[in-house]
Amino acid sequence: MTDRVHNFYPGPAALPKPVLEQVQREMLDFAGTGMSILEISHRSAAYERVHNGAIEQLRSLLGIGEEWSILFMGGGARTQFALAPMNRLPQGNAAEHVVTGKWSETALSQAQTVGPARELWSSTETNHDRVPDLSALEPGSDAAYVHITSNNTTAGTQYSTYGRPGNVPLVADMTSDVLSRPLDLAPFDLIYASAQKNAGPAGVTIVLIRTALLDEGPSDLPDMFSYATLAAKNSLLNTPPVFPIYVVKLVTDYLVEHGGLSAQAERNERKAQLLYDTIDGSEGFYRGHARPDSRSLLNVTFRLPTEELEAKFVAESAQAGLVGLKGYRSVGGIRASLYNAVPLESVEALVQFMSDFQERWG
Ligand code: PMP
Repeated sequence: MTDRVHNFYPGPAALPKPVLEQVQREMLDFAGTGMSILEISHRSAAYERVHNGAIEQLRSLLGIGEEWSILFMGGGARTQFALAPMNRLPQGNAAEHVVTGKWSETALSQAQTVGPARELWSSTETNHDRVPDLSALEPGSDAAYVHITSNNTTAGTQYSTYGRPGNVPLVADMTSDVLSRPLDLAPFDLIYASAQKNAGPAGVTIVLIRTALLDEGPSDLPDMFSYATLAAKNSLLNTPPVFPIYVVKLVTDYLVEHGGLSAQAERNERKAQLLYDTIDGSEGFYRGHARPDSRSLLNVTFRLPTEELEAKFVAESAQAGLVGLKGYRSVGGIRASLYNAVPLESVEALVQFMSDFQERWG
């Protein structure tokens, strides 16, 4: 392989190098089939082992059994913005949405195309620099669920704890922090996450739904929109995104072999701590966007004294082999995405670059 850069892209994002190497090794002959995984039937035994193996590894990482159903779907998290209310919002109820960033704004607007959905809490006024204490929120008596975005990819905020607001179950978009730390699923009814940040490549969305709820969904949904139908077919109703699922299997194998989600959380905390310490120790040259109690471990957002310096930072860091650091436009500045597969060495290279940059321009 040629030299690899330090990859801070917000998604699609870095994958573990041993996973990429395995994909490369197996590209011409997967598991002795004489074909690649791209070329075999999704009904073949070789593919079924991959598909069911990925589900088993997800169960093992999350510590869940058959009380949760795990689905693999296409269409990205954006499709789930509509499918969640289609499946989980009965007539006469409303969806309550906690709006903490660009993606939760979109989730709300898409839910509103399906049924009654309203804003329960919002951080819009402070440009999404915080997340609320969920247990302090008071959803209406008609609330079917409270929708949250667990990690706000563009703003760089993340919940550190979860609780049911007024005993109403949570539905969560976990696209940018799924599998980044252990998860207590008790407050949740439904979780969805597209894979392309921590769990694999773009093209597959992981959906977790309480099995007991599958029977409660509407019976008149088109097959491909129905969690119950897909669960009954083990996500093999149509041709699933076989290649992304295969890579999810390899990524989950890798996570299991490297100590599971607690070990991964420790690695993620260490990386984020190093970067936040550098920001906080810069005497105001670097200023974090998120309020300290809402800081994301996975997307670290910060500003420099001027937009000119921010542009220079992005250009010079790219030249130094640090890629993908430009912030999202509504926040501006810099965003470093430190997903699972970004190694500590990349963050060490970034903080070294930051201190050199400050010395030159501060
Ligand atoms: N939700 C969050 C939190 C995201 O970060 C993203 C993508 N960046 C999405 C949803 C949209 O995901 P997709 O492109 O897979 O639809």
